[in-house]
Amino acid sequence: MQNIIQHYINDERVSRNDRYQDVYNPATGILTGKVALASAATVNEAVAAAQAAFAGWSDTPPIRRARVLFRYLQLLQERKDELAHIITAEHGKVFTDAQGEIDRGIDILEFACGIPNLLKGDHTDQVSRGMDNWTLRQPLGVVAGVTPFNFPVMVPMWMYPIAIAAGNTFILKPSPTDPSASLFMADLLREAGLPKGVFNVVQGDKESVDALIEHPDVKALSFVGSTPIAQYIYEAGARNGKRVQGLGGAKNHMVVMPDADIDRTVDALIGAAYGSAGERCMAISVAILVGDVADKIVPALVERARELRITDGRDLKAEMGPIVSQAALQRITGYIEQGVQAGAELLLDGREFTPREAELRDGFWMGATVFDHVSPEMSIYREEIFGPVLACVRVPDLATALKLINDHEFGNGVSCFTRDGNVAREFGRRVQVGMVGINVPIPVPMAWHGFGGWKKSLFGDTHAYGTEGVRFYTKQKSIMQRWPESIEKGAEFTMPVSK
Ligand code: NAD
Repeated sequence: MQNIIQHYINDERVSRNDRYQDVYNPATGILTGKVALASAATVNEAVAAAQAAFAGWSDTPPIRRARVLFRYLQLLQERKDELAHIITAEHGKVFTDAQGEIDRGIDILEFACGIPNLLKGDHTDQVSRGMDNWTLRQPLGVVAGVTPFNFPVMVPMWMYPIAIAAGNTFILKPSPTDPSASLFMADLLREAGLPKGVFNVVQGDKESVDALIEHPDVKALSFVGSTPIAQYIYEAGARNGKRVQGLGGAKNHMVVMPDADIDRTVDALIGAAYGSAGERCMAISVAILVGDVADKIVPALVERARELRITDGRDLKAEMGPIVSQAALQRITGYIEQGVQAGAELLLDGREFTPREAELRDGFWMGATVFDHVSPEMSIYREEIFGPVLACVRVPDLATALKLINDHEFGNGVSCFTRDGNVAREFGRRVQVGMVGINVPIPVPMAWHGFGGWKKSLFGDTHAYGTEGVRFYTKQKSIMQRWPESIEKGAEFTMPVSK
């Protein structure tokens, strides 16, 4: 029987009058299911379910909402490996990396379990005689998350644990490329005791996203994906009166200073460039090699990249799995060709890789690619490739490195490897990028710090998760109160002041 990946509305898996998209195991190239693509009518049904659940859920004391999330946390920990297998089967990333993605999602869930404390407001006694003033934060209503293929669990978990903990109801629109993890999470939330309608999933493509943007009952949209779509959703969402946070694409640089520890830097670059086949928004895709460090780093880098264990992610020895789809494979291959045409030096060509195992031959495979002598006007430098392709750029000094990074249209993550404290400090202060690592290749902030890039990597003014996430999913209310005993008689016609 065919595996149909459905929507999840009001605690039920449902199909409607849907279109469908094929879902593959990228390691084998085998068709494993068909995902429903919601029409506007299905989206409206999900919004109605979430809207109906809002009154009861938002009135539930925060500590009781947190208790549901504590139970969910326990279930997720118990069933983590099942979920990791689902990720690997549809995304292709290696199993241990899929486990790591869930762990980083769990961090956010643990943070969200502290919601009673996070929602505390400010209180001022006696702003005037007999009068107090305080602020509180209340949920928005129905909020939605539109998420990318590359973290089918972690990125939705940047959003819904905090949104739900704060008293909102949620609609997740996952990527149709790897949609099954969303339903597994929905089932566990129900098992944890979340009331029906609080968490819903609509599978779909642009049609479903547009229906969410246009629906007046959807109060906020969180988006994570490529820059053109982030910008589109930000602008269209704002036109429709919604709060939007739109996290976009990236081109993350790692600066290697001449005093960096070579072995550790090569380790860091290999993991950050080729982990998850480079399909991470915080992957390092450009190495900026300062001074004479290039001649030490590049040969070691090529040697290590050539030896990567690239195979089915279910193999626990695998270091890199397949590319997510045939279309992505073609896009990445096209960029490699553009790099060659533009005159970059191709030291290792991932297009030459074929898996040894016969059952993987129809999968979407490529090996690691290393380019040297890449220059800023080349498309392989300017554009997001989102694959296992590392571009090495040689520069004379830190100032040139910083200028390159600061001139780039993306500003998601960046890293600097050095032993010099002053270089580290100057780099951290002057770089125009939202998330900075000093001797940390992928500086994804912890749950309570918040995640967000600058420039074309983020549209909107709040970062995902952390206290910024709590702010995004709540609105502030100020209440002033006095009691008849302290009210002076007579109408006041002047601006009231503290008495
Ligand atoms: P994508 O932009 O193609 O898709 C993201 C989501 O938008 C999906 O749910 C998709 O169905 C939907 N979508 C696609 N086209 C749409 C359209 N025309 N209108 C409305 N919705 C549309 O991204 P992807 O390929 O799934 O993911 C990779 C991208 O995500 C990369 O650019 C990567 O850098 C980015 N990303 C960014 C971050 C971050 O935090 N900044 C994190 C992860 C991924």
